[in-house]
Amino acid sequence: MSDTTLIRGGTIVTAERESRGDVLIAGEKVVAVGEGLQSPAGAKVLDAGGAYVMPGGIDPHVHMELPFMGTVSVDDFLSGTACAAAGGTTMIIDFCIPAPQQSMLEAYRTWRERAKKATADYSFHMAVTWWGEKVFEEMGTLCREHGVNSFKHFMAYKNAIMVDDATLIASFERARDLGAICLVHAENGDLVFRMQHEIFERGIHGPEGHPLSRGPEVEGEAANRACQIAGVVGVPLYVVHTSCRQAMEAIARAKLAGHRVFGESLVQHLVIDDSVYRNTDWRSAAHHVMSPPFRAPEHQQALWGGLQGGTIEVIGTDHCTFRTEQKAAGKGDFRKIPNGTGGMEERMSVLWHHGVRTGRITPCEFVAATSANAARIFNIHPRKGTIAPGSDADIVVWDPKATRTLGVATHHSRNDFNIFEGMQVTGAAAVTLSRGTVLWQNGRLSPVEGRGRYIERPCFTDYARSQATRNTHFAPTPVQRQEFVP
Ligand SMILES: [Zn+2]
Repeated sequence: MSDTTLIRGGTIVTAERESRGDVLIAGEKVVAVGEGLQSPAGAKVLDAGGAYVMPGGIDPHVHMELPFMGTVSVDDFLSGTACAAAGGTTMIIDFCIPAPQQSMLEAYRTWRERAKKATADYSFHMAVTWWGEKVFEEMGTLCREHGVNSFKHFMAYKNAIMVDDATLIASFERARDLGAICLVHAENGDLVFRMQHEIFERGIHGPEGHPLSRGPEVEGEAANRACQIAGVVGVPLYVVHTSCRQAMEAIARAKLAGHRVFGESLVQHLVIDDSVYRNTDWRSAAHHVMSPPFRAPEHQQALWGGLQGGTIEVIGTDHCTFRTEQKAAGKGDFRKIPNGTGGMEERMSVLWHHGVRTGRITPCEFVAATSANAARIFNIHPRKGTIAPGSDADIVVWDPKATRTLGVATHHSRNDFNIFEGMQVTGAAAVTLSRGTVLWQNGRLSPVEGRGRYIERPCFTDYARSQATRNTHFAPTPVQRQEFVP
């Protein structure tokens, strides 16, 4: 059990500032931040000299032991939260995905049960996969009684969990009235369905058919539709895994129009391009099958620009891992390859190496993208996402000089493949604390099954709600014309 810990002599970085100082932790909370803090008798002292002391990462887009495409993703809440901690991430937000016609509350209880083994904290977005009075009611119950303030909509995966525009609109309105935020997987599922069929009929059966069936236009169209519908309805929107210029432009337009829209990209999409699908090694190409797919390099440049310019607030991973024998279900038919890659453990090192070390973003912006913005958007700030008296002691001591070679030999995921294989990165978690308890130190993980907690996320306040529901479409703000007086 943790009691008192003093993290001494580091550079404390939050989304707002960098400052030299110490962090004092009592139990599970930060109790003091400042220079020259005295270490109380019996306190454990962690020397952070030469290191950055940052809020633990929050990955708001992961799937642990997800039943999907006829199989179940291999990282569960224990292995997942453990490998996250090895990379400096101390909280994940997973997605409860009820089957069409299934009760949301039933799915919620199933996910709560699965997540009990987690070693670090977690929360859930709820997916809206169908519509009806029961869904309407249960959205309210989840918001009011279970701390679920975010609802996810799949605009792709036709004949499975995809929702049409009518459902999207009904759910957006309900979420707006509850003070919740909506999420979308933005790809035009009808178009994907058609193109998959067409490409398969043309004789393209391998993984190279996957990106051909869901090009950037397919994503851009759906992102734009979701942004515009959210703007009309007046609900805040979070677009997950934005992978291309077209989708980013849709988000930027919506922001400029005054809509409350947030962009998320995945760290994978920042550094990996679509050449992976032309690999003649089927196994490697199949392991890169995820949706949206990897894109041509010009899109990576656009995503970096979006992150630097504020169109993209959050870098997540969509961590959803399938081993080779599971990917093999799609041998001979790319449409049947389970979609997903890993990334939770690598996210912060890859973003640090390619983002901070290249000068694209500052350490403060790094904290914003990996932790603080997610905490704010999903309404758990300042309990999470910062280092301040009263916040949870979810902290990573970050060694900016440590180097790591990413890959299967060094990762802690259960997957037998790593899309970052061989990538050398500088900047890594030296120590990771979850609510005051060390989970990762000296290259060793010490996960404790079941110590992770479910984090409730309250709905937004009346003020935030009134901001979010500003509805320019139906209730235009009257324009006051003033006489020009020279
Ligand atoms: Zn996902």
